[in-house]
Amino acid sequence: MERAQHGGDDLILVVDDDPTLRMLARATLEKAGFRVEEAEDGEQALRKFIRHHPAVIMMDVEMPKLNGYEACKRIREDAVGAHVPVLMVTGLEDIESVNRAYSAGATDFLSKPINWSLISHRVRYVLRASRTYQELRTSEAKNNALLNAMPDTLFVIRRNGDIVNFLAGNEAATLPEPRGDQLNIRQYLPQAVAEKWFDSVTRVMRDGKAQQCEFSLTNETQQYHYELQMVPYLNDLTLAIVREITDRKRSEEEVHRLAYFDTLTGLPNRQLFHEQLSKAIKRAEKSGTKVAALYVDLDNFKRINDTLGHSFGDVVLKTIANRLDSCIRADDCVTRADSNNDEIRLARLGGDEFVAILQDLESEEDAVLVADRIRQELTKPVEHLGHEFVVTSSIGVSLYPHDGADIDTLLKNADVAMYQAKSAGRNSVRFYSGTMSLRSLERLELENGLRYAIQRNELSLHYQPKIHLETGEFFGVEALLRWEHPERGDIPPSQFIPLAEECGLISTLGEWVLDQACRQAKKWQDRYQRNINIAVNVSSQQFFNADFADIVLKKVFDAGISPSSLQLELTESILMNDVIETIAILNKLKKAGTSLAMDDVGTGYSSLSYLNRLPLDTLKIDRTFVMDLETNRENAAICAAIIAMAHNLDLLVVAEGVETEAQKAYLLSHHCDQIQGYLISKPLPAEQLENAFLATAEMPSPVPGA
Ligand code: C2E
Ligand code: CA
Ligand code: CA
Repeated sequence: MERAQHGGDDLILVVDDDPTLRMLARATLEKAGFRVEEAEDGEQALRKFIRHHPAVIMMDVEMPKLNGYEACKRIREDAVGAHVPVLMVTGLEDIESVNRAYSAGATDFLSKPINWSLISHRVRYVLRASRTYQELRTSEAKNNALLNAMPDTLFVIRRNGDIVNFLAGNEAATLPEPRGDQLNIRQYLPQAVAEKWFDSVTRVMRDGKAQQCEFSLTNETQQYHYELQMVPYLNDLTLAIVREITDRKRSEEEVHRLAYFDTLTGLPNRQLFHEQLSKAIKRAEKSGTKVAALYVDLDNFKRINDTLGHSFGDVVLKTIANRLDSCIRADDCVTRADSNNDEIRLARLGGDEFVAILQDLESEEDAVLVADRIRQELTKPVEHLGHEFVVTSSIGVSLYPHDGADIDTLLKNADVAMYQAKSAGRNSVRFYSGTMSLRSLERLELENGLRYAIQRNELSLHYQPKIHLETGEFFGVEALLRWEHPERGDIPPSQFIPLAEECGLISTLGEWVLDQACRQAKKWQDRYQRNINIAVNVSSQQFFNADFADIVLKKVFDAGISPSSLQLELTESILMNDVIETIAILNKLKKAGTSLAMDDVGTGYSSLSYLNRLPLDTLKIDRTFVMDLETNRENAAICAAIIAMAHNLDLLVVAEGVETEAQKAYLLSHHCDQIQGYLISKPLPAEQLENAFLATAEMPSPVPGA
């Protein structure tokens, strides 16, 4: 502070028209260590001020040319001069001239006669005050510059949430200044956000440490994101620094979207799905519920792409993605009500592979239900540019915790199950073989039994007659497989056929059936010298085996019957599976003379629009529609519609499961061609059928009046 004590080399400009006074001033001030410049009137004072930048100006008021008041005013108008201390020397200590001096911008005043012993102290005092003021001003200017340059909006908040101070950020402020009625953050912010702020304030007060969090605000059109930093301020005050991060958030989201989502379907990709599945597993671990991973693969998607083009392929993928999504959302009936709807449960793993998670499952059966519903839903035809196309899918399911305790194992096993579903003839659902633990032992036993059933002669065929409805004439038989287990007795085909399909035995069994049936037909034809049509059921796995058509024709020729004596009963799931491949096989059989029937018509799928593209001869109305014809008007109508449609397409119609005269009468009135069912006969062993239908010259006469 030496400079302040001795004046340093601060320059004082002494302005007075009285040379004696100037001389005295110079002498006193120089003695105190100041430098001095003199001016003898107002105009000269202005010139010297500009040239020398004095630290203080001592200015007489009464001067020629330009008086002191005027000169002071002019100096004050100058940017530099605005803050230079001006000591006005008034002639008299009258209130009038003091007022004038102040309103001209004087910093202080001295009155004549001047007390020279005090003058340097006075100057020093003014100078020091001016310095302090200058320093404050620059530091404030610095602060302001800093604050104005910051994009952040600042709030000073009291412990109770009162907003004590607000400084808007420099960016187009999306946080508005608090209005008069918003002086507490509870009024200023939406409740949830306000609570977040309170939380931060409380923590800052308690720990004395900065806190950070993010929050969002939404107006009518947009959502804004902010980062909030709370730092301790003074006493019970906290400084909240808010920065808008909407743009950053958006680009983060965009990166996230690109990194985690599939662009075609908008579904999450493998990475994101992985994360979600691991969360689901953690939750299931806590709650003791089950999680199912469903691996969905479209059957022959490559062929769709190759034959119908990639744009159609894209449509198929998008459609399937939407259907899967809605299926899974609809499954909330089996999941807990409190499960979060926004959770990701479906992903595209690439190509035509999708994977879904079912959470909060109480039992394995829930997964079976949903998986089957998905399979059915996906089988509905996809429409594009007026074309309808059926896409089936194979679904593999694995369950947490049984089939794997971690994501990778779970997904891998679902994948394995999916391949089993594929090789089982597509359009089916398979559980990973480790699943369904309770039944697995029993199944294994049955499966083993089935492997040896042929060798051990436990299998046989029963034959159920089909008759022409109008004439009652015998037409032929359907061969139905029977298994007499050495310990368990008769096992119904509804149990062992699916098992045979699952363990890959169905083709062997199917060949055995074909072989036996053709030979039986040959025997009857030779013995009774008439054509006897024999119908054989074909499972889809068997149908899609390589060489199916060749195997069938070989059996026919080996047995020595005409191919036209054989009818193959094919399920809807075969016929709609993959139209191009299917048609090729069907055509081959058709050309050789085999007759082709669609079994169980009306069950399963809604679209029969592809029927006219298939070389079929016969439709078999499923038993479930015939069953309650008399009481269910809708089913009666379906039967009538199927008959009409079949005739339209030049196909024969067989109604199966006819048990009553009333059913028969209804079918007759709608011109159904043939019937089959307990009303005529149960399926019978070869010999019994022979005795009842072939050996007697007469047919079992229809009940009179029918
Ligand atoms: P399906 O092809 O629909 O066969 C007709 C089923 O209906 C037979 O059951 C038959 O016994 C039963 N049925 C016939 N008339 C009536 C009736 O008036 N009332 C009632 N309630 N039922 C009647 P089954 O023999 O138990 O066969 C069940 C299913 O097993 C068959 O259904 C077929 O899908 C399959 N199946 C049977 N044998 C073979 C075979 O050799 N190969 C293949 N792949 N599947 C077979
Ligand atoms: Ca059948
Ligand atoms: Ca049936």
